[in-house]
Amino acid sequence: MNVLKSIFTYRCPKCRTTKMFIEPMKIKDPLAMHEACSNCGQRFEPEPGFYYGAMFISYIMSAWILLILALIMVFLIGWSLDSVKWIIIGIGLLFFLKTVRLSRSIWIHIVVKFNKDLHKKIKENKSINQAKTV
Ligand SMILES: [Zn+2]
Repeated sequence: MNVLKSIFTYRCPKCRTTKMFIEPMKIKDPLAMHEACSNCGQRFEPEPGFYYGAMFISYIMSAWILLILALIMVFLIGWSLDSVKWIIIGIGLLFFLKTVRLSRSIWIHIVVKFNKDLHKKIKENKSINQAKTV
């Protein structure tokens, strides 16, 4: 599994086998994460305030995407600034949770290094266990 697939599917950054977030997502607590990876033990919140850096990633991603969309709507499609403002606010709210989860995933993938040997070992163990049960 490559790093982009791991980031977009919210996998453990160290072994890329388990999911970081509790699914399905609950509206009450959309950022609920597992405490640690069940395969490699990597903690998903290594220290308090770990995800402050993810806020910058979230801000940069949403600001650029929304700015580009707004520019397209105003200059290429020709909509008025006032209507574009409300559309952009709506899109921003719709994708807020997706952006926040994605930025957390990007942040932990930047900080925690991928362990290729560990990934191989876990995959081998899984296939051995599957062979035993069949
Ligand atoms: Zn792991």
